[in-house]
Amino acid sequence: MRLAGFASESIVDGPGVRIVLFFQGCKHHCPSCQNPITWPFDSGTEVTIEQIDKLIQENSANTSGVTLSGGDPFCNLEDSIQVAKLIKNKYKLNLMAFTGYTYEELMDNAKEDPNYIELLKYLDYLVDGRFVLALRSISINNRGSRNQRVIDVKATLKSKDKIVFADRLMDMSFYN
Ligand code: SF4
Repeated sequence: MRLAGFASESIVDGPGVRIVLFFQGCKHHCPSCQNPITWPFDSGTEVTIEQIDKLIQENSANTSGVTLSGGDPFCNLEDSIQVAKLIKNKYKLNLMAFTGYTYEELMDNAKEDPNYIELLKYLDYLVDGRFVLALRSISINNRGSRNQRVIDVKATLKSKDKIVFADRLMDMSFYN
């Protein structure tokens, strides 16, 4: 699999201090994206699941959880699922992901490819939607634009017909 980067102690990619894996490759090409170098699928660094396992192991002691970012982990489904399985089954860490797809688009895509649901099943939280420059805000934590939503994935999958939001997750007072 290909990664654009790795962070061992991020405070801007979800709640708490998190390990972040930035997948290489994104199809959305949002105007004014801050990370266009993550768009091509053939760039970044080739890594094995064993190397990722080692990185998580070395950094898991004091982490609040792991975030899959990009690029877009949902544009790298087979690799993201492999990593998500490792994080949940072996390390049992809180797992969240950022995607340029909306939750509704993920559900539509899942009709053709069940891997979309497979990855969702491993997630605790999802931040969805493309970056929209006109809706950019610096007053919302960990998101670029106001259209992007924080979703409680497990509660949403359970409810079947409504999306359960978890905006308080991004409010740092939640952890005080
Ligand atoms: S989804 Fe994210 S990485 Fe992809 S183009 Fe949009 S802002 Fe950039």
